[in-house]
Amino acid sequence: MNDDVQQELLASLGNATQDTEFYTPFPPGYVKGRTKYVVVLGTVMSGLGKGIFSSSLAKILKDKGLRVSPIKMEGYLNIDSGTLNPYRHGEVFVLDDGMETDMDLGTYERMLDENLSGGNFTTSGQIFTRILERERHGQYLGRDVQMIPHVTGEVKRTLRQLAVDSKSDIVFVEVGGTVGDYENGYFIEAIRELAYEEGEQAVCVVALTYIMEPQSLGEQKSKAAQLGLRQVMQAGLQPHIIACRCPTPVIEKVREKISMFSNVPLRRVFSMHDVASIYLVPEMLREAGMDREVLTLLGLHDRVNQRLEDRARRTWQAFIDKLQLPKEKTVTIAVTGKYTSLRDAYASIDKALEHCSVYTGCHINIRWIDTTEINARNVMDHLRACHAIIVPGGFGVRGAEGKIECVRFARENHVPYLGICLGFQMAVVEFARNVCGIAGANTTEFDPNCSEPVIDVLPEQKKLEGLGGNMRLGGKDVILKAGSNISRLYDNAASVRLRFRHRYEVEPRYIATLEKAGLTFSGHAPNQPIMQMLELSTAVHPYFVGTQAHPCLTSRPLRPDPLFLGLVRAAIERAYPQQVLSAIAGEAAAEQVKASPPQPQIAVS
Ligand code: GLN
Repeated sequence: MNDDVQQELLASLGNATQDTEFYTPFPPGYVKGRTKYVVVLGTVMSGLGKGIFSSSLAKILKDKGLRVSPIKMEGYLNIDSGTLNPYRHGEVFVLDDGMETDMDLGTYERMLDENLSGGNFTTSGQIFTRILERERHGQYLGRDVQMIPHVTGEVKRTLRQLAVDSKSDIVFVEVGGTVGDYENGYFIEAIRELAYEEGEQAVCVVALTYIMEPQSLGEQKSKAAQLGLRQVMQAGLQPHIIACRCPTPVIEKVREKISMFSNVPLRRVFSMHDVASIYLVPEMLREAGMDREVLTLLGLHDRVNQRLEDRARRTWQAFIDKLQLPKEKTVTIAVTGKYTSLRDAYASIDKALEHCSVYTGCHINIRWIDTTEINARNVMDHLRACHAIIVPGGFGVRGAEGKIECVRFARENHVPYLGICLGFQMAVVEFARNVCGIAGANTTEFDPNCSEPVIDVLPEQKKLEGLGGNMRLGGKDVILKAGSNISRLYDNAASVRLRFRHRYEVEPRYIATLEKAGLTFSGHAPNQPIMQMLELSTAVHPYFVGTQAHPCLTSRPLRPDPLFLGLVRAAIERAYPQQVLSAIAGEAAAEQVKASPPQPQIAVS
């Protein structure tokens, strides 16, 4: 029986008969050979920047006009990343469709400059849930459900489903963890099976490895890399390309050793040494010719659009040229949260500020401040040297009163302020308490029995409580108030789409009181009384903005988020009050900043 006929037969039988060992789930519409696969595996150790490497390689392939769909496969049993502690795992990245994912998905969205969805992320939890559901529905036709072929089959089905749904030229697979980890072993076995089933020129395996350079020796050592690569081969996979992470360029002799021990031709063993910025990685890979090797291995040269590639390269080059320009100005921006000892917990904020730094040509010095240590007496000491303050998103009462003090400090001292999600809610609580005189104002998240719940769970959501899934998640439209400062920042757009991840909202019965006292809600949900943006008039404060959304999640290198950009511009204006803003690149929001009143000096006690 020829291969295609066999596959068709298996597909028609639901791929799970008693009399064959093949279990090759092809989702409806799957055409073998149309979509190719690039698989990135990590060896030796984690923390090598696998996500940055993978997304950079995916980007330079996409730049060629190829449709590239990334998928990150995580070994953990959680269904998604929603319940993971940012302190251990970095921030939870929310996709437009509401999927809560690993922060690497953020790296892909930013590098590829496109929105991803749930199909681009899977975990062992998702894989096993689907298998157990299938089992309960009798879909394994009486067979005992086994790690091989059924669990690995589910992995293959997931990858092929993505190929069908995305109609992509390349499904770009990043396997989480390191080869040799117990929990990702079956993903690697699934890749081996996939390569076997899809045949020649269909699957390109890229192994990322690490060349050590111990200080005491002062030379590059390849043994750990060899052992890591041997483990890949022991799993039955022959890598096609090897990328060697190393602090310095990997010398020829070491590349030769790696090549010889791993059966990979020398031209496919690449040095991936440290560079000054992650944004330089795509060009480094392109210059080394990694993209060409992938195209050759997958037989994809015919599908390349040279014109698109040239254009994408020029655009990116302009961005990295700007990135590398020496920066004359510097501003200090405080990010006041509770996970400040770990940058990854606020990765998107870090990135959004970086995008603004390139755009404005101003260096941004981020000061991470732990609000558990802040109170009314010491807030000035912590914040007086800062030109802007961000209170980021968060959950739980720890550090909350410190955040409220930060808001108060920013409001009273005219320090540019951006409140994100919880930072928006804290701005409402602060304003209610200190401007409207509602002393008992709080959020029911921190004090369920508070007398003045200015932030509360909306009635419709209360009904859902206890059933789970009561978080407002994902991309939602925000209707902007015409003429507001925020709508000007968005070029007078009537609405914007931003991403949300929250449970609590402004309690509607307080809106009129807050607005009468001078707080403007300049963005709200289309059909519900959900307040999503707030601001103070530029007549009373240079930049006081809050949003229930997480605008940092949709900020991109080439398109910084407007609320962050507004904040950075206001910070520059504060730090360099005499200088005219026209020196700053891109002047769309300058009007707003110019309208700011003169800055009162903060008394230094
Ligand atoms: N804890 C708040 C809520 O659930 C804010 C959430 C957040 O900042 N992401 O509404």
